Amino acid sequence: MIPGDQQILEQVQKIIAEVLRIPQDQVTPDSQLGEDLGGESLDFVDLQFGLETDYGVEFYQGGTLDKLAEVLAPQKLEENELLSSLGAAILQARMPEVDPARLQQGQPAAGIESFYTPRTWVRVIKEILSARPRACPKCGSDQLKVVRPSVLLCQACRNEVNCPTGEECLEAWAKNIAGALQGSHKT
Ligand SMILES: [Zn+2]
Repeated sequence: MIPGDQQILEQVQKIIAEVLRIPQDQVTPDSQLGEDLGGESLDFVDLQFGLETDYGVEFYQGGTLDKLAEVLAPQKLEENELLSSLGAAILQARMPEVDPARLQQGQPAAGIESFYTPRTWVRVIKEILSARPRACPKCGSDQLKVVRPSVLLCQACRNEVNCPTGEECLEAWAKNIAGALQGSHKT
């Protein structure tokens, strides 16, 4: 039911090429949206929208860092708009495909989205798809079809099944990592 990494990756590369109007072979799995491909924040929004439509998922409103900061408060991920030591550690853990040299304490906290690569989206999409129920909680059927973002319809009993959104997945991830990182970083 969940498409494979390679399949998602190719679809992400295709959409990036479409949105940025560049040849698809320019978009490698590790191309960074900003520096390598010249994508801007509006492109990012278009990309997210295209992927949400394709996969019937919902990412999160606002920035990743803001969302993480909300979960991890009162610890601070940024100070004076620069990454704190904890902020850098959290982002490095969240975005393992990004060179950690770019996610260091004291670097600008804004514009993290420009570091996104096709692999980043593959990871986020898979996280959301993996969190979806596999079977209808009412009748147990596995015939679930996406009818709108984050909602599956059971083809057997017509029950609607809600799926965790990208925001809920990110929150769950953040709560998990918070425990692991606490104590090893001062804010
Ligand atoms: Zn059902």
